[in-house]
Amino acid sequence: MATIPWLVDVLRAAGIQVVVEGDWLNRGRPGSFDPIGVLWHHTAATSSATNPHPALNICINGRSDLPGPLCQALVDYHGVFHVISAGRCNHAGVSGGSGPIPAGDGNTLMIGWEIDYNGVDQRMTTAQYDAAVAATAAVLTRLGRDSSHARGHRETSTTGKIDPSFIDLDVMRSDVAAKMAGGGGGWTSIVDNATAGRFTASANWGVSTYSGQRYGADYRYADPVAASDAAWYRFAVPRTGNYRVEAWWPANSGYNAATPYVVATTTGNRTVYVDQRATGGQWRTLGTFTLPAGDANRVAVSRWSSAAGLVIADAVRLTEV
Ligand SMILES: [Zn+2]
Repeated sequence: MATIPWLVDVLRAAGIQVVVEGDWLNRGRPGSFDPIGVLWHHTAATSSATNPHPALNICINGRSDLPGPLCQALVDYHGVFHVISAGRCNHAGVSGGSGPIPAGDGNTLMIGWEIDYNGVDQRMTTAQYDAAVAATAAVLTRLGRDSSHARGHRETSTTGKIDPSFIDLDVMRSDVAAKMAGGGGGWTSIVDNATAGRFTASANWGVSTYSGQRYGADYRYADPVAASDAAWYRFAVPRTGNYRVEAWWPANSGYNAATPYVVATTTGNRTVYVDQRATGGQWRTLGTFTLPAGDANRVAVSRWSSAAGLVIADAVRLTEV
């Protein structure tokens, strides 16, 4: 018997694109289902723009060792929610207890999103992250629970699960909390290396149009060096608050495997390393940070990398969350 037949309506009301997968209201595992939270997973399948939901059939039908459905919804590469079940699903196994989620039967306690990315050399897309945050906020609001009831499988698992990879789950919960509070003013701003008055780099940084994955007309590049010669991106941050910081780079096997991005936050500089040999030509999330109001240099690409390969400075985007 379906216990969350409201799921599709709640997701659509939150502005999420939904595809209903067949008889979702009557698809589910036998047993109890009385959810108090939402659990995030990754599928371990490699998705792409042209193959956005490679794990969808498995999530509906299950595997030889685990009968489906394997989640209430799968989140595809474009952030579309494929709703599979309104009932109990085989996604969580035994919960060891995490935050307010007690130890016990995870499939009774949790609604599961399987986010379709491989989690090894592929991160979740920004579209997947944004949709999963909005969906989690909407569902927790419907359940009458706060953002602490959003967990990752690696937090509740008793069998060493690692999913969802490449996500700071505390940042995820703060993004869910901001969404539930009606936050997210929607302010967003992009600074490209060609944006007048907002990008600064020394003459040691060359200009290239080599990669078709570039943002805008061109991008800057420099050899790694153990010295301070960063390329800076200046933003007029409207108010002190939480901002998602994303970077765009063209990827190439000759580029740097550990490029440092420095974010100047209210509590000092934070450094995030990215692999510019992969996942080029798209926005990649560096994290969500608290930034002070004002017009100042906020994000840098540093040349101070221990890895070989050219360090690339292309575009940076801030979004208030
Ligand atoms: Zn999982």
